[in-house]
Amino acid sequence: MSETKEKEVLLSIKGLKKYFPIHKGVFLRHVGDVKAVDGVDFNIYRGETLGLVGESGCGKSTTGRTILQLLEPTDGQVTYKDKELVGMNAGQLRNLRQEMQIIFQDPYASLNPRKTIGRSIGEPMEIHNIGNTKSRLERVRELLDLVGLNANFYSRFPHEFSGGQRQRIGIARALATNPEFIVADEPISALDVSIQAQVVNLMDDLKQQFGLTYLFIAHDLSMVRYISDRVAVMYLGRIVELGDCDEVYDKPLHPYTQALLSSIPIPNPKAKRTKKRIILEGGVPNPSNPPSGCHFHPRCRYKTEICETDDPKFRNLGTEQAEHYVACHHAEQFLVPS
Ligand code: SF4
Repeated sequence: MSETKEKEVLLSIKGLKKYFPIHKGVFLRHVGDVKAVDGVDFNIYRGETLGLVGESGCGKSTTGRTILQLLEPTDGQVTYKDKELVGMNAGQLRNLRQEMQIIFQDPYASLNPRKTIGRSIGEPMEIHNIGNTKSRLERVRELLDLVGLNANFYSRFPHEFSGGQRQRIGIARALATNPEFIVADEPISALDVSIQAQVVNLMDDLKQQFGLTYLFIAHDLSMVRYISDRVAVMYLGRIVELGDCDEVYDKPLHPYTQALLSSIPIPNPKAKRTKKRIILEGGVPNPSNPPSGCHFHPRCRYKTEICETDDPKFRNLGTEQAEHYVACHHAEQFLVPS
């Protein structure tokens, strides 16, 4: 995304929560909630790729699906181009879904094995009454070509394709309605390492060509840095750090981000000697009973008393031009003078 251009907010997410109720006993009494997304706030700017990273189970995918209203939020606001999505009826949402699409993680499960790929790619156009049979077929052929597949493959079935090709088909399907915003939900995690970069490069090319905006969800931190303009780090249902990729990767302010980054292998042996791996103790706590105060405190080596009692505010320690948000009571100690 061009630095000189004024940033335009495409999506604004405020206080977003998604709780899954836990029921027990014969009368299915409500005994608690899994707090998958527990109050997140961030903007997504037009034309950017925002990476969303964190360990599995931290709420990344649920955040993506709740933003798209594929899951009904428990609380909060999702504003897309000045329209509030939360509380819209099915018809209103249906119209907007043309503009907001999703690429799923598993290219094997996301395509119907009994439908030709042409039908699968063309389906979103049928749902939204775009064009007629002939124009839709033309568009399918054009989309296949765009994602690097032979346009004549439209009458083939999913089992005739490799994992990487199926993900290209998933991308073609997501593009069918000319969307503006795409949630890419771990789009490369199920793919062979050798073809992950090809799919990421394709997504980047399509973004440039069509002015797309991505929320790119992944747990591979190296790939997220490669494709994203900004990155948000999630821990136990909350965003703990957010900023420009270079800023967050080179000067992380949250102890959790520091630990995640310390585990990325460095190819340069000299740098390797100076870089210490931070081992996180314990596992991710149960999201139905998250720790008090800062959710990360049981695993944090910098914790003090306040961390156990008070929620740290999500605050900007960067500048107005280069925002760097962090949720940590003691993040100032990690600021590097520029
Ligand atoms: Fe660690 Fe405290 Fe910062 Fe949480 S608020 S990350 S426990 S120092």
